[in-house]
Amino acid sequence: METVADYFGSMVFNDKKMRECLPKETYKALKETTREGKDLDLNIANVVAHAMKEWALDNGVTHYTHWFQPMTGITAEKHESFITPTKDGLALLEFSGKELIKGEPDASSFPSGGLRATFEARGYTAWDPSSYAFIKEKTLCIPTAFCSYSGEVLDKKTPLLRSMEAISEQAVRILHLFGKTEVKRVVTTVGPEQEYFLLDKSLFLKRKDLINAGRTLLGARPPKGQEMEDHYFGSLKPRVAAFMQELDTELWKLGILAKTEHNEVAPSQHELAPIFTSSNIATDHNQLTMEMMKKVADRHGLVCLLHEKPFAGVNGSGKHNNWSISTDTGVNLLEPGDSPKDNEQFLLFLVAVIAAVDDYQDLMRVSVASAGNDHRLGANEAPPAIVSMFLGDELTGILDSIANGTVSANKARQSMLLGVHVLPHFPKDTTDRNRTSPFAFTGNKFEFRMLGSSFSVSGPNIILNTIIADRLEIFARQLEGAKDFSLELAKLVKETYQQHRRIVFNGNNYSSEWVEEASRRGLLNLKSTVDALPTFIAPKNIEVFKKFNIFSTTEIHSRYDIVMENYSKTINIEALTMVDMIRRQIMPAVSQFTGNLASSAVSKHALVSSLSLSYETELVSQLSNLCDSLAKETETLEKLVVEAKMISDITESARFYHAQILPEMATVRAICDEMELLVSDKAWPLPTYEELLFSV
Ligand code: ADP
Ligand code: MG
Repeated sequence: METVADYFGSMVFNDKKMRECLPKETYKALKETTREGKDLDLNIANVVAHAMKEWALDNGVTHYTHWFQPMTGITAEKHESFITPTKDGLALLEFSGKELIKGEPDASSFPSGGLRATFEARGYTAWDPSSYAFIKEKTLCIPTAFCSYSGEVLDKKTPLLRSMEAISEQAVRILHLFGKTEVKRVVTTVGPEQEYFLLDKSLFLKRKDLINAGRTLLGARPPKGQEMEDHYFGSLKPRVAAFMQELDTELWKLGILAKTEHNEVAPSQHELAPIFTSSNIATDHNQLTMEMMKKVADRHGLVCLLHEKPFAGVNGSGKHNNWSISTDTGVNLLEPGDSPKDNEQFLLFLVAVIAAVDDYQDLMRVSVASAGNDHRLGANEAPPAIVSMFLGDELTGILDSIANGTVSANKARQSMLLGVHVLPHFPKDTTDRNRTSPFAFTGNKFEFRMLGSSFSVSGPNIILNTIIADRLEIFARQLEGAKDFSLELAKLVKETYQQHRRIVFNGNNYSSEWVEEASRRGLLNLKSTVDALPTFIAPKNIEVFKKFNIFSTTEIHSRYDIVMENYSKTINIEALTMVDMIRRQIMPAVSQFTGNLASSAVSKHALVSSLSLSYETELVSQLSNLCDSLAKETETLEKLVVEAKMISDITESARFYHAQILPEMATVRAICDEMELLVSDKAWPLPTYEELLFSV
């Protein structure tokens, strides 16, 4: 029998395969260019391409594609066959180095935020050799970056790679000051925990809201929701277990380290967590994981929902971005050390993160902003929109005593520096974690918990890497110029913490007291996407992106436009879908149901004139009145959508959707949900929450 070890990574042209398939010289040259980030020589590319093609053909592959991550947040591919005609009317299967290195997809239909006029349709994709080629559905996929011909970045991959470079360079500077000159590179690592819902496909297909918007726009609360807390970690139902099993197999073939699978809090909700890897690979893998979840679900007659809030009143889905930094020598820099010296280093990186998160709360918030995620953040199931960080009482205690100078008060000079000698081991116990914090230290990594389930993890990691690189750069400059390294270091840790301690909060982030306390501390509370996004283009933020060459000013503005427009488009689709469902499904059904009631009352009355018929009379009046208000409010909603369409300014338009259309949608929904509970099960034209949530 084939074991997992036999097929793990079987669909990936990984290091092992390269070593097997490539001439030694080519392999060495490829490794070198990858390591040094140089351009690949065409001769080498030709040899690599040929070997890749042979391996692909052995696996029944006929096509290849450059696989890239445009700003839609999903992945894109354009399949080309290996076929090349020969003079004698036959065909050869070829794949050249040029085709491997560079592709030219017609890029006009990808969002560019005005960067590339449609008449300059061409963009190009360039192989990112740090991510292995792989086979997906009989196609050889080459992971690539995507740029416009004038050099503007059009994807989510390139800036991520740049941010990884930026933090590596700055962290290495710091480590060299600590005498760790053997470290040449530092890599950020990510392990994203992915939440999702599974629904029965036949029910899904009966709901236009799920089809168009990925979430229910209508639906009364079911008698039973998640209050019994009987789903979390519960045993898997057979259909779900079969789905997970096949999903694992597919992911393992792609070399994705799918590790943990379990039921989540809400009925029909589940989670998958992989073992962490470098940020760029983790990003590729998470995109593939989401894609595979949808495909495998389909094979099982299921639909996988990745929307942040598919159902009102039950938990939504998020993605926890576990993040750390480690050296090319394998040392996790957020692992508290055993020796005092290592602890000094740990504390320095720790306060760098603290300062960065405090300085750039706005960017962290922006990185998780979307119409879908707005339904979750601050809804007592996910962290609030206020960015703060959890360090735990012990670590906070240590930093507090350093800041207050109490630890060093009566100790010898050595231990006075940081006060770490009196604390032989830093707490590594992570059992008592605060689940409500947006950004929690969990022993040797940070867990950024604000991401929406459908997000590419690229954006949030670009932000984390860049803002922390920024602080490390400031530290490196200060320390490099110091007369006494140890004294300067102690001063840096102490003063940085003193200046930024307001961002640390270990209490309950869901409480209303925290909202007040955060406001007293001067922390930002950017409640919605339209509140958050404008900070993206604030001068200090543009500055930091430019400092590390992550984005140019134009690229920042284009990304701003894309996210803002996406917000409006999303709500526009939702509103139109809602109007359609109300007019063409709900109203006719309710009207017919009411008509039947009325007729039955009339015939009863004809038979026995003394009957009171209060049930029918009251229900008919109640439903007729509700129908009238529903018709009126739906008309208002439709008018507002027309009005929104007239606003040409992207930001103004998004503000209008937020301030006018969302509340009107809530009004319409409230009336509709009230009617649902009065109409017979049979007459209601949509699968109910009860059916949807307990369908699998
Ligand atoms: P939780 O208790 O939050 O559910 P899990 O064990 O399910 O934790 O998930 C933790 C995630 O963190 C996993 O994906 C794991 O691989 C990842 N992780 C662990 N160490 C690191 C690290 N050093 N860098 C990045 N991610 C990490
Ligand atoms: Mg977690």
